[in-house]
Amino acid sequence: MKIHLRMLGCRLNQSEIDTMARQFQQQGHEIVDRPAQAEQIVVNTCAVTQDATRESRHLLRQLHRANEAAAITVTGCYAQIAPAEIAVLPGVARLVDNTEKEHLVTKITGQPLQTFDHEPLERADKSGAAGRTRAFVKVQDGCDNACTFCVTTVARGAGHSRALSEIVAEVRYLAALGYQEAVLTGVHLGSYGHDLGNRQGLAQLVERILAESEIARLRLSSLEPWDLAPEFFDLWQNPRLCRHLHLPLQSGCDRTLRRMARRTSQAQFRALMQAARARIADVCITSDVIVGFPGESDEEFAISAEFIGEMDFAGLHVFRYSPRPGTAAARMRQQVSEDKKRERSAYLHKLAAAAEKGFAEKQRGRHLNVLWEHIAGATEQGFMNAGYTDNYIRVQCIHPRVLTNYITPARLERYDETRRQMTVTPLLT
Ligand code: SF4
Repeated sequence: MKIHLRMLGCRLNQSEIDTMARQFQQQGHEIVDRPAQAEQIVVNTCAVTQDATRESRHLLRQLHRANEAAAITVTGCYAQIAPAEIAVLPGVARLVDNTEKEHLVTKITGQPLQTFDHEPLERADKSGAAGRTRAFVKVQDGCDNACTFCVTTVARGAGHSRALSEIVAEVRYLAALGYQEAVLTGVHLGSYGHDLGNRQGLAQLVERILAESEIARLRLSSLEPWDLAPEFFDLWQNPRLCRHLHLPLQSGCDRTLRRMARRTSQAQFRALMQAARARIADVCITSDVIVGFPGESDEEFAISAEFIGEMDFAGLHVFRYSPRPGTAAARMRQQVSEDKKRERSAYLHKLAAAAEKGFAEKQRGRHLNVLWEHIAGATEQGFMNAGYTDNYIRVQCIHPRVLTNYITPARLERYDETRRQMTVTPLLT
């Protein structure tokens, strides 16, 4: 059977699509790049903002136009919160809600799933086939918090963690397939293990993966700030753990944070950033911010923007608030006008671009290891190899060889503001 897979949204959706691809392939099916080649299409949708739901609907229509004969299976947060809106779209043959997502492949093929046993390890081609550089590994789903803007808890339910031994086996399997980097993801990654009665679950998971797998690099995706104690950062004494933390702040104003029901404050967040920077040299810290949350006055935004500037993030995702159905914030009075949201978003984007450049330029002249992930083009001088340093600086070099899926040292030369990346010189022997 030929299957085309698509996703929108977060890294968790990406990890789920990656897992489905591996499951289909283990069952002997083929993943195809173009929808026109497929008999089955799977779409993992997103509902985090109104734009995301609009894009999900647009993608579904586009896929149907590309291949009217293919049966489309729709899953993800949008399918969970508004199944009726999706069921009427042309070509949609099946809806699978988030609780049934793990069985999606079986529902389509009718075949049972294979577990990550030892047999594929022996068969695996370790040469680093295209696309096998960085894999997303889902370790938990759902969240027990109640941030008032968040539709994810409505769409994905309470937190539940995968068994530690199962995750370690999956990372071992990925390393044997030739992946160089695994990224642990979850809706609320920092709560890994809490539902199993283990408050130190994530730290133990990281230690076990590093001790029991050969994966060259391990990266953590988004971590809620209140889940982390300063000692957590001692894990980074192991250089295989990538020096990148994504800590969503959402607002830099305590009053807004309280209305959002975020369990952090300016003071707590500042202390956490200081602890991380003191323990992890040259750590890249990125964040998310929402502008135009209900009741965010000009004064609150000014406080927030000043704090964001002080935090000097190496990267920032700025979201314009949009009310999501079923959330407490959607019912709040004092919704902010779209013009104000656009203005605030533009201001923070400028701030973020300057901070990103500042972080990258501080690394100028350093020798850092790069995982080369893909080829961005070619010139007469060679291939344009693109990748990331472990502290998440996007880099590019022109080299006569394709370096994809190798980790090599490289000297960071200069920052290209238009492309938002560093040009580097690989230091190959
Ligand atoms: S911590 Fe808050 S924002 Fe994150 S998933 Fe849970 S409720 Fe949503």
